[in-house]
Amino acid sequence: MPVFRKDPCGIICVFVTYAAVFYADYVVTRWIILTSFYDSLWGSFHLVVFNIIIGFLSAAHMRAVLSDPGIVPLPQSRIDFSDYHAKERSEEGEGNWTICNRCEAYRPPRAHHCRICNRCIRRMDHHCPWINNCVGEWNQKYFMQFLIYVGLLSGYAASLVVYSWTTTDCPYCPTDLLVKQSRVLHSVILMLESLLFGMFVLAIMIDQLSAVFSDETAIEHVKRLGRHRSRKPRMTLLSEICGRGPIFMWFLPCHNGPRGFEPSSNYHV
Ligand SMILES: [Zn+2]
Ligand SMILES: [Zn+2]
Repeated sequence: MPVFRKDPCGIICVFVTYAAVFYADYVVTRWIILTSFYDSLWGSFHLVVFNIIIGFLSAAHMRAVLSDPGIVPLPQSRIDFSDYHAKERSEEGEGNWTICNRCEAYRPPRAHHCRICNRCIRRMDHHCPWINNCVGEWNQKYFMQFLIYVGLLSGYAASLVVYSWTTTDCPYCPTDLLVKQSRVLHSVILMLESLLFGMFVLAIMIDQLSAVFSDETAIEHVKRLGRHRSRKPRMTLLSEICGRGPIFMWFLPCHNGPRGFEPSSNYHV
């Protein structure tokens, strides 16, 4: 079932994300391709590839926004925890179910409570306003795909701007001063936007990959929950996030077979 948080900060961030993507598409189409590539087949090529990346970016983003990150279901009836609280802290760690005082529910190992979603999330990494959702066990793959596509789009847009600046042969470039100035202004804004978002997602991606490879979510790292460093191979750890299907499927915003860490799984290496 799709989820959508009524968090003002998250809604603004989602809006800003799409505004930035559509603006990049506008500048690339109107001010770069229709001028620097007007009479060449490369123009159509860049237009198609650029919009395919935007398609993948939007699909991954929408899935990250709307999919259930791994919400732990609430119990049907109230549970009596009176004898449980004393030993709760000491039992927290790998392999043990814990109790969430706010949800008043048992939660599986590695689940944490998100104050914004107001629910416990399985293998919660962090709450991300850019997807207006938690990054957890069931949507981390889409979140990482979103980062990859934003990085790809930023690099692509920046390269097109650099090309349009360096090319001297531009018979269709505007000669009117005002139009010329608009072109320069839009190109500069797009360049800054690409650098800003590109570096931002690169930093988060490095963070995400180091979290995946150390088999430790951001919350576990901060809370120092004493998980032992995983000895699993990196590809196994990645398949736990991205699914066990073929590797090219890891980059597509669709479900990709069971994940390695699902409770029913007996996937060991
Ligand atoms: Zn909770
Ligand atoms: Zn959350």
